[in-house]
Amino acid sequence: MADGDTRFSMAFPLLRGVLHDAVPPTAPPPALGALEGFDVLFAELHSLRAYTMSLAEGDLGASLDMRGRVSGALKALQANLRHLTWQTQAVAAGDLSQRVQFLGEFATAFNTMVDRLGKQQEQLKDQAMRDPLTGLLNRRYLDETLPREFARATREGRPIALLMIDVDRFKEVNDTQGHAAGDQVLRALGGLLRAMTRASDVACRWGGEEFVVVLPGAPVDAATRRADDMRLAFASLAIPGQESRGGNSFSVGLSVFPRHGDTPEGLLEAADRALYRAKDGGRNRVEVAVDPAA
Ligand code: GH3
Ligand code: MG
Ligand code: MG
Repeated sequence: MADGDTRFSMAFPLLRGVLHDAVPPTAPPPALGALEGFDVLFAELHSLRAYTMSLAEGDLGASLDMRGRVSGALKALQANLRHLTWQTQAVAAGDLSQRVQFLGEFATAFNTMVDRLGKQQEQLKDQAMRDPLTGLLNRRYLDETLPREFARATREGRPIALLMIDVDRFKEVNDTQGHAAGDQVLRALGGLLRAMTRASDVACRWGGEEFVVVLPGAPVDAATRRADDMRLAFASLAIPGQESRGGNSFSVGLSVFPRHGDTPEGLLEAADRALYRAKDGGRNRVEVAVDPAA
């Protein structure tokens, strides 16, 4: 499976190919199919290509279905093309009063469209790696990133701490306050984890009410302190919709590479086992993974 960076470096020449090549590929390769929305963008470029080709062949009645995505820019482009056609016909019919100044407008409309497609691609790239509820990175992003973090940490001889966080008795929140209130708790926790991590850390929603925070470079002591700070901050966090502050807690299982695991899977499993002990020991606490030798 190609990683995110590889896929994006594959994606750009491919999209360019659709616009420029004599015979463009008809479908994106499987590695790119995994990018959310890429197939849609690909199909839209194909449709844009077919549309411009039929215009070039003189078929001005061709219609374009872009499902509203870049419709603003395309409408401007279409309007300019219609205007151009009309001006040309007027000149051909002997009406020289038309000042032909459409090229500038046409270029602007086209540039706007290209610009929007570029921005849309950036958005798709961002969406594909984020959890929509909390805005945190998602599990797919973590799966792709951890092997790289491991390679770097190995090269630099540095540790990586991993916190597996699970909200305590979260089912009760849903059952007593409703699912929407539960969502607010998850959103608030997402905001807190974002605020309490640095640019080099990775805070992600692992799924449901479980989160994983990766702290590259952090040894056991520093990571334990940071996990505990997060735990205390969550316990006193005011959550929109909840009447009183506090009452929420989470448990943390903490493992550190290479001490508790030398692969991403091994480190995640070690953190998961530690989390289980944190729950068993009464919740609202941080448990460090047991040394494999112990
Ligand atoms: P424990 O302290 O042992 O972790 O208990 P718990 O109640 O947190 O654990 P359990 O795994 O039984 O419940 C997790 C609940 O999280 C069940 C599920 O309905 C809820 N949940 C998962 N995803 C979401 C979500 O996106 N929104 C809301 N509101 N609830 C969710
Ligand atoms: Mg859980
Ligand atoms: Mg839970």
